[in-house]
Amino acid sequence: MNKIQMTTPLVEMDGDEMTRVLWQIIKDELICPFVDLKSEYYDLGLVYRNETNDQVTKDSAEATKKYGVAVKCATITPNAARMDEYDLKEMWKSPNGTIRAILDGTVFRTPIKVKGIEPCVKNWKKPITIARHAYGDVYKNAEMKIPGAGKVELVYTDANGNETRETVHVFDGPGVVQGQHNINNSIESFARSCFNYALDLKQDLWFATKDTISKKYDHTFKDIFADIFEKEYKDKFEKAGIEYFYTLIDDAVARVMKAEGGFIWACKNYDGDVMSDMISSACGSLAMMTSVLVSPAGIYEYEAAHGTVQRHYYKHLKGEETSTNSVATIFAWSGALRKRGELDNIPALCDFADKLEKACIDTIESGKMTKDLALITELKDVTVLNSENFIKAIRETLEKML
Ligand code: NAP
Ligand code: MG
Repeated sequence: MNKIQMTTPLVEMDGDEMTRVLWQIIKDELICPFVDLKSEYYDLGLVYRNETNDQVTKDSAEATKKYGVAVKCATITPNAARMDEYDLKEMWKSPNGTIRAILDGTVFRTPIKVKGIEPCVKNWKKPITIARHAYGDVYKNAEMKIPGAGKVELVYTDANGNETRETVHVFDGPGVVQGQHNINNSIESFARSCFNYALDLKQDLWFATKDTISKKYDHTFKDIFADIFEKEYKDKFEKAGIEYFYTLIDDAVARVMKAEGGFIWACKNYDGDVMSDMISSACGSLAMMTSVLVSPAGIYEYEAAHGTVQRHYYKHLKGEETSTNSVATIFAWSGALRKRGELDNIPALCDFADKLEKACIDTIESGKMTKDLALITELKDVTVLNSENFIKAIRETLEKML
């Protein structure tokens, strides 16, 4: 069989622990036998990040800017325990945070639907994609405990020293107070990423805030979205036959519960944090979820939504058998290969990506799956496979399709 040829390299970001183990098996079994893989490899494993003083993470993000598409393995975000475990020079920052700061994007997460693993919400026939704004609000707040009676004010001092004041509250006893911010530039990027992604997927876009109560803060989000939509996207949406729809967050939640799915739900930072966990747990597992960072400049970085599955890795190191689900990592590869195929006009690559995804789904639907899925499936006669044999079973399905 002739391997599919690529023209532009994919930026490949390797990672840590169990997902690094899966990464190699996925390449050996599911990618390299079929695709003449052109990739620019960056080792984001913690050992090499430490060796390069984290320069490799920045280099990989710059390469992504250059080529437009990356696929990323899950990586360790160091904490105190990792400092000792890996003898680190510094507690390096989260690679996802570093990459996001360089690419400036929005994260889109979609459950992977499989027959036999049904969402708890019965009417969700199609997946719901969450688009989470990943800057500001409560995640970059300033807060205080108020010990007793007194006045709290917001004070803005402009470049010339002029002050604008707004009373938050006049306390007559103890309490708490919090200040939040966001930046128009970041909200604009968020809006454009969402509109572009909706056009990409040809799905409606919903956006919701609490603008009736937050008449300046949330209303600014609503206005920026409306303004950009009107000026830049209205015609494109009409041509694509899709809709942009704004409503109040409580109305959105009520509608989502009754909806069929098949749309993108753009959420402010906190709403996205909470709602994406609701959607993923209602749909089964983080290992059955795709995740892609889309920058306003149209750059794509595909990853799995879960971490490095540390507990399984320690078992693996002890020579014990693991049953780690590789679907989200395989879908990161298929997503990146498909996007490369679209950008470089290689239909065979897009077709391969479609088949690879179908092979994963068909394998599970035929009853062969990892332990996490076996625990929640409605299918009878399930065969629980170990990490490697699950990938080999997908290869068998794939070979029959090609
Ligand atoms: P995790 O790797 O997502 O794993 C948490 C638990 O979820 C696992 O112990 C396992 O449950 C289950 N699980 C997750 N993915 C699975 C899969 N593919 N197949 C089967 N079960 C799966 O989260 P963590 O253990 O909290 O974090 C480990 C490391 O990952 C940390 O160092 C963290 O910094 C990093 N992390 C990286 C990313 C990223 O790069 N995107 C994201 C999150 C966390 P059972 O043990 O019950 O089987
Ligand atoms: Mg969360």
